[in-house]
Amino acid sequence: MNTITEVFGSNVFSDAVMRERLPKETYKQLQRTIKDGRHLDNAVANVVANAMKDWAIEKGATHFTHWFQPMTGITAEKHDSFITPTDDGRVIMEFSGKELIRGEPDASSFPSGGLRATFEARGYTAWDPTSYAFIKERTLCIPTAFCSYGGEALDKKTPLLRSMEAINRQALRVLKAMGDESVKTVKTTVGPEQEYFLISREMFDKRPDLVYSGRTLFGAKPPKGQELSDHYFGTIKSKVAEFMADLNSELWKLGVLAKTEHNEVAPAQHELAPIFTTTNIAADHNQLTMELMQRIAKRHGLVCLLHEKPFAGVNGSGKHNNWSISTNTGENLLDPGDTPYENARFLLFLCAVIKAVDEYQDLLRLSVASAGNDHRLGANEAPPAIISIFLGTELTEILDAIEKGEQYGSKEKEIWKVGVHTLARFPKDVTDRNRTSPFAFTGNKFEFRMLGSNDSISGANIVLNTAVAESLRQFADVLESTDDFSSALHDLIQNTIKEHKRIIFNGNGYDDMWVTEAEKRGLLNLKTTPDCLPYFIKEKNIKLFELHKVFTKTEILARYEILLDNYSKTLHIEAMTMLDMANKDLLPAYSDYTKQLSDALIAKKNAVPSADCTFEEERISKISELCGRMYQKTKALEETLIKLVHMDCDELEKAKYYQTKVFSAMNELRIAADEIESITDRKAYPYPNYGDLLFGVR
Ligand code: ADP
Ligand code: MG
Repeated sequence: MNTITEVFGSNVFSDAVMRERLPKETYKQLQRTIKDGRHLDNAVANVVANAMKDWAIEKGATHFTHWFQPMTGITAEKHDSFITPTDDGRVIMEFSGKELIRGEPDASSFPSGGLRATFEARGYTAWDPTSYAFIKERTLCIPTAFCSYGGEALDKKTPLLRSMEAINRQALRVLKAMGDESVKTVKTTVGPEQEYFLISREMFDKRPDLVYSGRTLFGAKPPKGQELSDHYFGTIKSKVAEFMADLNSELWKLGVLAKTEHNEVAPAQHELAPIFTTTNIAADHNQLTMELMQRIAKRHGLVCLLHEKPFAGVNGSGKHNNWSISTNTGENLLDPGDTPYENARFLLFLCAVIKAVDEYQDLLRLSVASAGNDHRLGANEAPPAIISIFLGTELTEILDAIEKGEQYGSKEKEIWKVGVHTLARFPKDVTDRNRTSPFAFTGNKFEFRMLGSNDSISGANIVLNTAVAESLRQFADVLESTDDFSSALHDLIQNTIKEHKRIIFNGNGYDDMWVTEAEKRGLLNLKTTPDCLPYFIKEKNIKLFELHKVFTKTEILARYEILLDNYSKTLHIEAMTMLDMANKDLLPAYSDYTKQLSDALIAKKNAVPSADCTFEEERISKISELCGRMYQKTKALEETLIKLVHMDCDELEKAKYYQTKVFSAMNELRIAADEIESITDRKAYPYPNYGDLLFGVR
């Protein structure tokens, strides 16, 4: 096999493979399960499992695993081999329908926010037949959802699938009310663009901060950063190009539609964009992409950093979640069309998104909140922490005209009514580029740009799908019960614009004026994770998720606890790592350096009593002074952690304490340490420095 078309999907138990390998009747029954969510009976499952196993063994697999996404954010797998002993002391390779459909990982160490304690001790994994099985590292991986025995979701996939069902239900109601009976399913689609850094593995291994926390906790700015913008879209270095080629080929084998790759703004930063696909598959594929990036980088003597802010002073990494809604008849509901009907439908779905984003700003913001992403959002490189929508001038003018009941784009002097008159042909490419908006309409889809590079895309899409489902539910209620459809539709669109236009902002999101303006408009500005998380458990949000059967209240409370706990633990590890580095490497190294200077000074004076020793004297005094300060800062950071041990506080208070007290003590220590680094002998610094890390891959 050598051509890309042959390699593509070769490690996937895809539709084509199923059609070829399954008996016709089994294939049909499985299709019914996949397409209509019908129950799969045991006999069918056995046949499928057996065919899967034979196929996997032919491809060199020896093990199988239920592949799932617990709330730790990474993917989990426990490998079982296919071997089953026979009576005569040999083994045969077996895989049953039961093993395919359901697994029982010993899940007690995955975070559950107390869910398993409250309900059942163990969780189970259940096959998601809408996402194909695949082979990775000699293991047949079966994409699964992970639940407790009480049915509570313990993973990121279950609620994502539920949110897709919610938006499907409500969108179908709206389409039907608009007279479209032909559409049978509506699915959201996502194309996530993934940013990452590549650095030398050898250097990575020498930095405890990178090893323990994924980001540098110390490090003075190098003489050159990203100011020349000479990296963005620049020529890809051969070592990086080899990595990318290898990555693409592995991703293609797994059926991941890796498409575009280029250098990003910061030195050593790159991006990979796939072609979009159905949301749950996009989520699985993005997890696989992140995993493979890390594994393949190692093969090339590199390390792939997925942290949102590995280096201070240069851009961090995000993930752009391109999102749209499409029908089984192949139509993109966010694509402005050529006919009055298509335009009306487009405007209605556009309004559903505008309303959803305005009403659930808090949830969208918190869906991307994490300790790592706090370093990006609101800094002048990533979208601000304030949620707003960019629509572009053209579309905004159209909405303005509708709001005011004015004519748009046509010379006739009558009130324009949706669905009655053609909307003077939307230009297809209605939007210009605005890099500063967190949520931008880009012609036929929305690009949610606040996600961190390390995030699972599930969180953001659960909120998006559910919030838009809620807008559509309210629209459907109106449209289903009206006698005058045309007016009702028109009023719905007009009223939505009136009520929610505050969320539309086409200007520069990095501008300080915007912060003031947004506040006037009553938009939320939630700067950090502990600021966002309490919104998760607000009555209105619990109601939303319960109404659409995406989360139960219990599940929300559990997740809330996990997110808070995760935040505090991340900061705790970082603080401990800093203390470790300061106490064991940095302070001793700086102290050694002063000794070296003192020795030089004495030697010089001995040799030539009148020698000019200003450099040595001033350096010794400066470094001693700075070391004194750094040592105080180290002790201060220790203090903040010790205080915490004796504090009696809940998870939210604890997270807030980390965010305010611990985090600022960490920053002060870093400032003190970095200042010494900038006047210390390069050879005396115990780690590869920023210059080495950022420009070390050639
Ligand atoms: P660019 O951002 O460079 O203009 P595109 O707009 O073509 O590139 O696509 C950016 C990302 O958006 C790609 O991952 C692409 O697959 C994805 N995308 C395009 N159309 C859709 C859609 N209808 N739904 C979801 N994602 C989409
Ligand atoms: Mg883009």
